Amino acid sequence: MALLQIAEPGQSAAPHQHRLAAGIDLGTTNSLVATVQSAVARALPDEDGACLLPSVVRYTRAAEPEVGRPAQARQAEDPVNTIASVKRFMGRRLADLPEAASLPYRFIDQTGMVGLATAAGERSPVQVSADILRTLRVRAEASLGGELAGVIITVPAYFDDAQRQATRDAAHLAGLTVLRLLNEPTAAAIAYGLDRAAEGVFAIYDLGGGTFDISILRLSKGVFEVLATGGDSALGGDDFDRAIAQWFCNGHGVEGLAMLAPSAQRSLMMAARAAKETLSHAGSAVIALAHADRSIWQAALSRAQFAELGAALVARTLAATRRALRDAKLGTGDIDGVVLVGGSTRMPLVRHAVQEFFGREPLADIDPDQVVALGAAIQADVLAGNRNGDGWLLLDVCPLSLGIETMGGLVEKIIPRNSTLPTARAQEFTTFKDGQTAMSLHVVQGERESVADCRSLARLELRGIPPAVAGAARVRVSFQIDTDGLLAVTAREQTTGVETHVEVKPSYGLTDVEIAAMLQQAIDASLPDMQLRTLREAQIDARRLLDATEAALDSDAALLSADELAAVRRAMFQVGEALETDACVDLLKAAATDLAGATETFAARRMNASIRNALAGRNLDTLV
Ligand code: ADP
Ligand code: MG
Repeated sequence: MALLQIAEPGQSAAPHQHRLAAGIDLGTTNSLVATVQSAVARALPDEDGACLLPSVVRYTRAAEPEVGRPAQARQAEDPVNTIASVKRFMGRRLADLPEAASLPYRFIDQTGMVGLATAAGERSPVQVSADILRTLRVRAEASLGGELAGVIITVPAYFDDAQRQATRDAAHLAGLTVLRLLNEPTAAAIAYGLDRAAEGVFAIYDLGGGTFDISILRLSKGVFEVLATGGDSALGGDDFDRAIAQWFCNGHGVEGLAMLAPSAQRSLMMAARAAKETLSHAGSAVIALAHADRSIWQAALSRAQFAELGAALVARTLAATRRALRDAKLGTGDIDGVVLVGGSTRMPLVRHAVQEFFGREPLADIDPDQVVALGAAIQADVLAGNRNGDGWLLLDVCPLSLGIETMGGLVEKIIPRNSTLPTARAQEFTTFKDGQTAMSLHVVQGERESVADCRSLARLELRGIPPAVAGAARVRVSFQIDTDGLLAVTAREQTTGVETHVEVKPSYGLTDVEIAAMLQQAIDASLPDMQLRTLREAQIDARRLLDATEAALDSDAALLSADELAAVRRAMFQVGEALETDACVDLLKAAATDLAGATETFAARRMNASIRNALAGRNLDTLV
């Protein structure tokens, strides 16, 4: 019998408590949860031993919805209330869903996100996803014997901020703490340990049930950068099922699937799917369809025949892959590794085609259904603090610089592009005018010098700055970006401590292609941008001089003779005109130098006058 270990008093048995963390692949067709136990990542099965949870939820009048297999089983019977592929609706309005008309659901068109009317009442895609996540949470907590401290949920690399936020909201509703969201291709790369390679460019080929995603990732210094994403949101395993069903119909003299009764269509699609999956490990499969009149249609399909049926579909995935490579400005020879993800990459015809396309054998020894969840589980384990020793942590980078608009419409960069996240930086700013008590801050993103050429992210206003001369106030503006890329901007006046705060998602609505275009424009414009900056700075100086002269004339014009006053006015006019016409920097500087010269004696006289005023009525003794 093993001896029970007892720790010394005051010393805990374990060096530190293992916190329960999990990775969740919230998929369009299937979802699953995985965790790291004894340093090995594994997917957690349900009571029946199945790891994959079909992403299907059925709402009835009962309090609890049916989730997964039971819901899927009733899908044909109750299509209106059985929501499948809800991931397609996350963060989307009805207008964003061209396929909505062909779906059996009762959509509710509303601002924000589309709704779904069900037997249990109205449900948002966030709530439906939350029901899937809750099922996985219950499974994980039952199997791990405790509450989950945090999870990582994966999302497609192309998901925009609305879709990512909807995913976070769903997790929150399901009572989960999200450590971070992770891009699906990055998670797959982590599962293969590619993040431990020194450098490299990897292609992640993900063919699921209804979607195809191709991502080109570059790893350098422990940071994965998404170079390009592409794919086809209406191409997946279902299309292969349809191709088989179509072939079966043709063989029985029926023109198309649509000619069959709805229930026969569904039975045939299920038989086709089963045959397709069989053909991934067997040389042939039999498809049978029982009709209401008890007659049975039957056909055998060989692997070679199926390869022919599916060839056009596979070719479409390769065309999208070629486009993504072109976007990344890479050839197949630049790829250091190819990873297969998604249940549909089990099909030998897909594997062969991908291998031929890249001229190398793809990584496929991790279950393609599970690879994303396993990678997420590994990251979750790290983030939960369970890997103190070898503390590697996956980092993302911010793709574009972030900064603040300053006078003259210029941008002061605070966080430079490619900074690894999380990051925080601060800079001090000051007031432009005497007595200025508020400051309006404009947060922008981009590489260009001029605000007009950058993207506006947010505006915030700081009020309650104590009135003082221009340039005396100290306002510290700090930028902080967390691991999800959420930017928090805080502006704080240093003497009084008044502050204002705003949070934005800098990547909101920007695709990688757009980011690349913005970078290219910045490179093309770097010389004119620098010239523009010099001009804007000269304009700020000139305007400041003009304002100061105007203020001096307001109070002390009497100190000047009529001729002197006319000379100053003339010089002011020249500067004003140079500013108004946006004259070149040399002209503007010359006008400003003239004005400074014309006001020299005036300035001296004002100085004397103010000393005289200060001294008026005072005894000389008190001045010593
Ligand atoms: P998603 O990422 O969309 O949630 P999955 O990665 O779970 O989807 O893939 C589901 C698809 O994988 C389905 O079309 C299913 O038929 C297909 N699939 C699963 N196993 C096999 C197999 N052995 N052979 C061929 N296709 C398979
Ligand atoms: Mg998937």
